[in-house]
Amino acid sequence: MVVTESIRIERTKHSRISQVDFANLPFGKIYTDHMFMADYRDGEWKNSRVVPYGHISISPATPAIHYGQAIFEGMKAMKSPTGDVLVFRPADNWMRLNVSGERICMPPVPEELFMEGLSTLISLDQNWVPKDEGSSLYIRPFLFSADEYIGIRPSENFTFMIILSPVGPYYSTPVKVKIETQFTRAAEGGTGYAKAGGNYGAALYPAKLAQDEGYHQLLWTDGKTHQYIEESGTMNVMFVVDDTLITPALSDSILAGITRDSVLKLARKWGMRVEERKVSVTEIMEAAGSGRLREAFGAGTAATIAHIELIGFEGKDYYLPAIAERKFANRVYEELEGIKRGTRPDPFGWITKM
Ligand SMILES: *Cc1c(COP(=O)(O)O)cnc(C)c1O
Repeated sequence: MVVTESIRIERTKHSRISQVDFANLPFGKIYTDHMFMADYRDGEWKNSRVVPYGHISISPATPAIHYGQAIFEGMKAMKSPTGDVLVFRPADNWMRLNVSGERICMPPVPEELFMEGLSTLISLDQNWVPKDEGSSLYIRPFLFSADEYIGIRPSENFTFMIILSPVGPYYSTPVKVKIETQFTRAAEGGTGYAKAGGNYGAALYPAKLAQDEGYHQLLWTDGKTHQYIEESGTMNVMFVVDDTLITPALSDSILAGITRDSVLKLARKWGMRVEERKVSVTEIMEAAGSGRLREAFGAGTAATIAHIELIGFEGKDYYLPAIAERKFANRVYEELEGIKRGTRPDPFGWITKM
C-alpha cells in the first residue's frame, strides 16, 4: 500500500523545550512538542499529520477504552557523538505492531506510514533527543479503535499515533523478582505474544502483590502448569547456567522482544552456546542452589539489560553472583548501547539514521 498523501505539519507556537531539565529526566512523564496522528476511515489510512503534542478528543463510546482494542510499541532513538539521530530496529517494531494488530482485529499500518510518520516527527523534534550517554528518546507508537459504538465487534475506524518522550539514563539497579505460580499473564491461545493494552492492565494486581512483599517484578510462568518460566512484565528473561545462555523459546504466550533477539544474535556471533527452549522453574532453582546459575537478566527496550539480583520462589530468596562478575550481561549491555549510540560497529544493520 502506498501512502500517497503527504504528511501535514502544524508546528507548535510555544516550544516547551526550554522548561525541560535534560540532566534529570524522569521516565515517561515528559513529552516533546509534537505528535504524529493518522486516521483509518472507510478502509484507508488518511489525514496523516504532525500536530502540537496535546490532549486528544475521543467519543466516550470508543471501544478502545471499553474493550481494550488497543496495541502499542516501544523503541528508542539516541544521538550519536556526531549529532545524528539513530533509531534502533524500527522496522522490527513496525512488523510487530502489525502482528499484534492482527490478533486484535486491527488493520495493518503500512510501513511507509509508520516510517515517514516517525521520521517527520523526529526531525521536527530532534532537539529533544538527549545527548548525554545513557539518555535517549523513548518512542511510543500506538493504535486504537475509534468507532463510536459500544457493541462488541471489530471496529471500522482506528487512530494511529506516535508520541516521543526524552528519558534519562535507566540506572538499572538490579531487580528482585518473584516467580509467580498462582496468577497467569498469558495463556496458550491467548494474546501474550501481542503488545495489547489489556495484557498490562491484567498484570497490575499480581505485580502489586509481589511489590508489597518487596520484589520489583514477577517472573511469569506458563498458565497451564506454572512449571515453566516465560518472561517478566515488560522484559524477556535470560539465564547463564555454567557457560550456556538459556532463554524460554518463543510461543503465543511470550512477547517476541527485539532486545531478546538482539542479545541472542550477539551471543551466537561471539560463539556462545545458546539454548532457546522450555525452561523449568526446577532447573533454574537447582542451578541457583548449586551455584551454577551465574547470571540472570531481563532484556527489554527500557533498560536494555536489567540484572536480576535475587529470585524469590516459594517463600525463599535465592541470591545471584555479584553484578561485576556477570561477564556476558555486562558485555552485551555495553555492546548494545554502543551500537545504539553509533560508537560501535553495527554488523546486523540495526540502526536507521533519521
Ligand atoms: C515490550 C515487551 C518485551 C520486550 O520487548 P522489546 O522489543 O525488547 O522492548 C518483553 N515482554 C513484554 C511482555 C513486553 O511487552
